[in-house]
Amino acid sequence: MKMSNESPIKTVNPTTNKVEKIYAEMTMAQIDALFAKADDAYQSWHKTSFPERAQVLHNAATILRERKQSLAKLCTIEMGKLLREGIAEVELCADIFDYYANEGANLLADKPIPVKYGKAFLTYDSIGVLLTVQPWNFPFYQITRTAAANIMAGNTVVLKHASNVPQCADIMEKILREAGAPEGVYTNLFISGSKVSELVTDPRVKGASLTGSKPAGASFASAAASCVKKSTLELGGSDPFIVLADADLDLAVQTAALGRLFNAGQVCVSPKRIIVLQSVADEFIEKAKSLYQNIVVGDPLDPNTQLAPLNSEKAVQKVIKQVELAVTEGAKLVLGGKRLAREGAFMQPTILTDIKPNMKAYSEEIFGPVLCIYVVQSIDEAIKIANATEFGLGGSVFGKDEKEAIRVARQIITGMVYINHTTGIAPELPFGGTKASGYGREQAEAGIHEFVNPKLIRVTTPDAAY
Ligand code: NAP
Repeated sequence: MKMSNESPIKTVNPTTNKVEKIYAEMTMAQIDALFAKADDAYQSWHKTSFPERAQVLHNAATILRERKQSLAKLCTIEMGKLLREGIAEVELCADIFDYYANEGANLLADKPIPVKYGKAFLTYDSIGVLLTVQPWNFPFYQITRTAAANIMAGNTVVLKHASNVPQCADIMEKILREAGAPEGVYTNLFISGSKVSELVTDPRVKGASLTGSKPAGASFASAAASCVKKSTLELGGSDPFIVLADADLDLAVQTAALGRLFNAGQVCVSPKRIIVLQSVADEFIEKAKSLYQNIVVGDPLDPNTQLAPLNSEKAVQKVIKQVELAVTEGAKLVLGGKRLAREGAFMQPTILTDIKPNMKAYSEEIFGPVLCIYVVQSIDEAIKIANATEFGLGGSVFGKDEKEAIRVARQIITGMVYINHTTGIAPELPFGGTKASGYGREQAEAGIHEFVNPKLIRVTTPDAAY
């Protein structure tokens, strides 16, 4: 059992880059025992009633709301999030638990199918143990969306959380136990990502979901496919943010530029490519620059701070390198691009323009506070650039004419497009992407239907046509 500094499962506070807590990586024997418990728990959990399951979720929501300050602080310590953003995240998790508690029974009620003779309906059977792998950028939200839906559906959930947020992972398991979930209904594994794919083939695992990068998703989903198991993938994104000619420019700059700094730019649905018309480009860039020049970067626990550190030293180094490479390849650095002269994984808010198709920055996801502005001659060109990426997660269209904004939104190839807002999140709205951003949906009705078996029950007679 690894327990030295070499264990990958540890809290390294990105504000100081100091190691705060190390967890031993679990052995395969320990993991095997936990899978056995999750499988055992499933045998009784899926027979419980919807009200019993709903009560556990409501209890979890109450605990989250009561402890939102301390839970948010834990996010800040483990991955650097601004405290106020952590509080909002914990509140959102409570809303998701309540949503599935309130709506789960309706969403999973038998669904009649009109037929000529007799009767037909779909009934939604739980399937068993779900293995879910999640990233660090929203330490509680990421794990909540699969947990709430699947616990309500009668599945049991085994989580492998990102190695840099072990305390958040650990505490969520404790909260669900305290909320009344029997042992094995929700289990946390301390194991590094490189070992996860081999767990997918365990026969007790009946479904597999991963949120993270494309390479991790590809290896995880291949393992699931090798034994014909259903998987869902929520992967990276490079959301376009198209500013239409009639947009209120100040509002568009504020929304795009501040949206890009949310969670230090480490959001799958961050507005990563701002696309503006030539006629307003100079004004847009100037306004974004003066906004970023006044951004307070610093201690994420300080309420005055607007930009927190990135989640790790490795992350800040990667983003700085991406910016440097873009500049070497000919992009224009309008602002920032450097780390802060202080301890911790801090970098300046950054603006890049003149990014061309031959540059890496054109196609790579930049997971940090870097506003990339593309200038176009027409809306058709804007749509072309919006779609010129392997990703297809979210996107935004900003403008006053709703009809025109919807016309443009229809042409963007992503799973979600928000008008006059950065891509957002609500428990009742489906979340997910297309192309290399993955497949499947979380939240809403779609989320609770991913890992259930929509079984047809047909009542008819032997002499009927079908
Ligand atoms: P990552 O390296 O793929 O890590 C995500 C999770 O996958 C972690 O738990 C990680 O464990 C695990 N993992 C790593 N390699 C694996 C493998 N080969 N097989 C199975 N699991 C593996 O992603 P990241 O770079 O930390 O996270 C950021 C990425 O996630 C970005 O691309 C972002 O856009 C995406 N994301 C997508 C969504 C969405 O909903 N679409 C939401 C948030 C983030 P370890 O920590 O132990 O390596």
